[in-house]
Amino acid sequence: MFRIGFGNDIHRLEEGRKLILGGVEIPSNLGAVGHSDADALTHAITDAILGALALGDIGAHFSDKDERWKNADSFVFLREAVRMMKEKGFSVGNVDTVINLEQPKLRPHIEAMREKLAVALEVGIDSVSIKAKTGEKVDAVGNLQAIKTEAVVLLQRI
Ligand code: MG
Repeated sequence: MFRIGFGNDIHRLEEGRKLILGGVEIPSNLGAVGHSDADALTHAITDAILGALALGDIGAHFSDKDERWKNADSFVFLREAVRMMKEKGFSVGNVDTVINLEQPKLRPHIEAMREKLAVALEVGIDSVSIKAKTGEKVDAVGNLQAIKTEAVVLLQRI
């Protein structure tokens, strides 16, 4: 038996903030603003796993009003979603994602993100896909105002 889930995320970009994606810090003069570490890729994947299980959304489990999650490592959220998934008797089949970011180029960092996410998701690296797109200089992404992410995940019953 399979379950499919979808998640997305958006964070504002500002100078003086870190840019963390898939648990990897990316050198950038603009970083993501958020209550936690603002890892938009990890948030989208976490939401996709919760969605596949119909367990609500990341905000319901890890409120951005909760001081515990201030500057939190978003892998804490991801690992908790994986724990809930396993408790329900599922494992990850594969994950496919898109990062929409104007700059910097993410290609040099994709493998490191895939490796970190694969460990947290308890799958091989070949089950974790990360694609990067620019905003073609239009919209919030293209105007360097935001980073957007999307993720789909397939879960299979263990
Ligand atoms: Mg987020």
